Amino acid sequence: MIVREVSGTKFYQFSSLNKYSCIFHGFFTRHGGFSTPPYESLNVAYKVGDDVEIVDQNIKKIEQVSKPRQTVAVNQDHGCKIIIIDNNYLKTYQKENPPTADAIITSETGVALVIKVADCQAIFLFDPVKKVVANVHCGWRGNVNGIIARTVAAIKDVFNSNPSDIIATVSPSLGPCCCEFKDHNTLLPPSFQRFKAKGNHFDFWKISRTQLLESGILQKHIEIAEICTVCNSRDFFSYRKEKITGRCAALIMLKETSEA
Ligand SMILES: [Zn+2]
Repeated sequence: MIVREVSGTKFYQFSSLNKYSCIFHGFFTRHGGFSTPPYESLNVAYKVGDDVEIVDQNIKKIEQVSKPRQTVAVNQDHGCKIIIIDNNYLKTYQKENPPTADAIITSETGVALVIKVADCQAIFLFDPVKKVVANVHCGWRGNVNGIIARTVAAIKDVFNSNPSDIIATVSPSLGPCCCEFKDHNTLLPPSFQRFKAKGNHFDFWKISRTQLLESGILQKHIEIAEICTVCNSRDFFSYRKEKITGRCAALIMLKETSEA
C-alpha cells in the first residue's frame, strides 16, 4: 500500500488500483479531521455520538481530496442489501437519512462511494473494462452471509461484467492477531474452521480472499492490505480496541474526466 497525505489528511492507496487514472480511491486514516476524543479526528460516522456539524466538516475534508460531484454513503447494518447508485437514485438521496445497505455499486462518474469502518473490511471492486466501481462493508457477518459473492453477482448481472476483469482490494481491518472468536461454534459456519489461526483466532483476510476467488476474481487481481486496525489503532479507528470511537472512510470513485 502507498501512504499519501493531502493537507494533513492521510490516506492509504492500493498499488493495484493506483495504475488506473480513471478512478480515485483511498482508505482514510483517523488523522487530519476536526473531531475531539474519543472520535479524534477524521470520524465520518454520524451515529456514533460525535457532533454532526464536525462530522460534516470531516466529510468536507475528504471531499477536498477526492473532489466528487456527490458523496454517497449508506446506513450499514451487517446485512446483504446491495444498492445500484444511478442518476435517478442520486436525485432523491438524502445524506441525513440514507437507505440501509452494505454494498453500493455505480457506473456514474463523480460519485464517491463511501463505506465507514472500524475493524470491519471495506472491499473495493473495480471493473476497468465496463468502468464500474463497488464498495462493500464486510464484517464477520458479511463473510457469513456471503456479501462478497452477492455483490460480484450483482455487478455481473447489472453491468455484464466478467469477474475475471475485476480488481478487488481489502482494507486495513481486524487481523488474525486480534480476531478471537470464543463463540465461533455458534456464530461461524463449520466451513470457516479451516481459517482458524492460533487458539480461537480466525483469519478473515484469508476468508475474504477465498470468497473473492470463489466469486470468480483472479488471484492476481486481489490485494489485501494485511494491516490490523486493532494493532494500529493510533492510525485507524478500532471498535474492538476502543468501543466508543469513530469510523474511517473508505472511498472509491470513477473520476469525471480521466487525467492523461
Ligand atoms: Zn492485530
